Amino acid sequence: MTTAAQQITSTGVTLRAVPEHALPVDLVARLTARAAAGGAPAVQTFAPATGVFIADLPQSSVADIDAAFATARTVQAEWAQRPVAERVRIIRRFHDLVLREQDAILDIVQTETGKARAHAFDEVSDVAVNARYYAKTAAKLLGTRRRAGVLPLLTQVEELRRPKGVVAVISPWNYPLALSASDALPALIAGNAVISRPDNQTALAALWAAELAERAGLPKGLWQVVLGRGAVVGNELIARADYVDYTGSTATGRVIAGQAAQRLIGYSLELGGKNPMLVLADADVATAARTAIRACFSSAGQLCESMERIYVHTDVYDEFVPAFVEAVRGMRLGANLAYDSDMGSLTFQRQLDTVRAHVDDAVAKGASVLAGGRARPDLGPYFYEPTVLTDVTPGMTVYREETFGPVASIYRVDSDDEAIAQANDTTYGLNASVWSRNVGYARTVAARLNSGAVNINEGFIAAWGSIDAPSGGLGDSGTGRRHGAEGLLKYIDTQTVAAQRVLPIAPLAGMSDETWAQTMTIALSAMRWLGMK
Ligand code: NAD
Repeated sequence: MTTAAQQITSTGVTLRAVPEHALPVDLVARLTARAAAGGAPAVQTFAPATGVFIADLPQSSVADIDAAFATARTVQAEWAQRPVAERVRIIRRFHDLVLREQDAILDIVQTETGKARAHAFDEVSDVAVNARYYAKTAAKLLGTRRRAGVLPLLTQVEELRRPKGVVAVISPWNYPLALSASDALPALIAGNAVISRPDNQTALAALWAAELAERAGLPKGLWQVVLGRGAVVGNELIARADYVDYTGSTATGRVIAGQAAQRLIGYSLELGGKNPMLVLADADVATAARTAIRACFSSAGQLCESMERIYVHTDVYDEFVPAFVEAVRGMRLGANLAYDSDMGSLTFQRQLDTVRAHVDDAVAKGASVLAGGRARPDLGPYFYEPTVLTDVTPGMTVYREETFGPVASIYRVDSDDEAIAQANDTTYGLNASVWSRNVGYARTVAARLNSGAVNINEGFIAAWGSIDAPSGGLGDSGTGRRHGAEGLLKYIDTQTVAAQRVLPIAPLAGMSDETWAQTMTIALSAMRWLGMK
């Protein structure tokens, strides 16, 4: 695969060798040809780190979406009949292919997002972990369950687990492989078809994943990708889907919830955050400062789980702050297609505008910049330095609003109670991090944090990567869960089948209603006495 733009140092000046295309033309042509699209005018995409042209993306018309659903429904009916073991085999092959062919997708993800390769690799790991987990657990989760009947022995009950049908996965641009593939996998393994709507900016990553899944053996048409602006095609998808899985901002999440409610279909919303990190007095400060780099600046802070607020106990404040600031100042910026940078570019002009606005507003109102604080157009159009602020007060935008960029604000606190109260002073509740050498005590702090996940002595990856446990937000951070049993069971409907044997649940021939009521009263009392369910 050819590389994207590279930096060349010549006579002391940083030059940029700009190729005509950011990705191999044949790869882009093959992937875009896979999209269930072409009925609407195309959209051009450009690599954020370099400004180089990526693709003319075909866009889906209403007719394209109709056709995609028609195909999906036909293919899904056959897929749902296949034994779970057969579906599992395909997902395991997909797992192996993703790991084996990771160089290709790392190049695509980096090119489309501008992120550093290490952060693109987090997406590859995420897909592998999800594929392995659901391949291992699906048979048990999807199996028919015997349930207690209303009359013991006489009523035999089974709970069946049936796929919903066609699931729409609407995903954003910040983790384009993970958030399209990892959410699709449990839906597929549960017997559904999936129609993905990735963001245009990162469509090739989703198209690559769907293509690879077909190579792993997934039936053609079971996982399709439609393309279009969210507000345009989102409505069309929700109008046809049997379930919608959405990841993005809280504002859009509310719109999606309203649309899904009108159709009485289920939904899962993974939304924004303003995540707090608490460094307690007994923390391993050096490790906390080092780990905070990944916790705050993965994908240039364009990570829903990333830490934007750091509350440091006064006893260790003067140790933590210089250690963290020194680590931040030492970060290498760049988005070469190699493991040679610690942070890449932002993905859009609008992200750069938001970051600038938050930092400039804070500085104008009295905040101090300890590191970063400026854009780096010399590196690429949307680069912004990893930034550390102090003296942030409630009147500043950055205090409460999600920046979704490389900006962390540090607050000095005098007690753990104060840290917890400030951490909870938000409408969000996605992720939190607590640093303490006393893990038992840190657990009691975690219990008091209003957050869907709390990482102790870690930033986000411990909870996020431990996929046996559910992941999702409280409050404005969303509803529904991915990962764990819930991450698969949301894609099924249960069906209860109860078979009555020998005697009906009604008065026997000639028995009065009163005698029936008396008989049942004795039976119900006996069941309670015997401790039955
Ligand atoms: P956004 O809501 O504006 O857009 C996200 C995606 O939704 C885009 O692809 C967009 O095209 C699409 N969209 C917009 N309106 C739509 C509509 N009416 N119907 C369907 N789709 C629509 O969010 P953004 O600012 O681009 O993305 C960043 C946000 O996503 C941040 O708030 C971040 O925290 C959140 N996020 C959350 C998670 C999570 O797992 N909780 C993960 C990643 C990102």
